[in-house]
Amino acid sequence: MPTDRKAYLRAYYLKNKDKIRTYQKKYAVENKEFLKEYFKKYVRENQESIAFNQATYRANHKLERDAYAYQYYQDHKTEADARGAVLVTCKCGSVVRSGNFPRHRNSKKHIDFMEKMEKEDEITPPS
Ligand SMILES: [Zn+2]
Repeated sequence: MPTDRKAYLRAYYLKNKDKIRTYQKKYAVENKEFLKEYFKKYVRENQESIAFNQATYRANHKLERDAYAYQYYQDHKTEADARGAVLVTCKCGSVVRSGNFPRHRNSKKHIDFMEKMEKEDEITPPS
């Protein structure tokens, strides 16, 4: 038997893996409602530390995440660019590349048009 407690527990887990997993699944099913409430309560009571841990994790893994996003873009470049190049016609009548649509929605031309439309709707008497 290993003297290190962690190693002992690890060995025990590996030896009884199936039995432990079966028990955990059974417990989760039988105590579904209790566990739901328990985790809700836990999140409510530990909001601050959870947020702190998440922020710390994000800060510590920023480089990995950026590298992953960059690699993902490189791998899916052609599809993504093709998707963004599709032309869409907006409610305001402008023809915009779908990749630029979010920017268009914030443009003066679009906002002015939508405000004008809303005013016209107010003026039109209900039939
Ligand atoms: Zn528009």
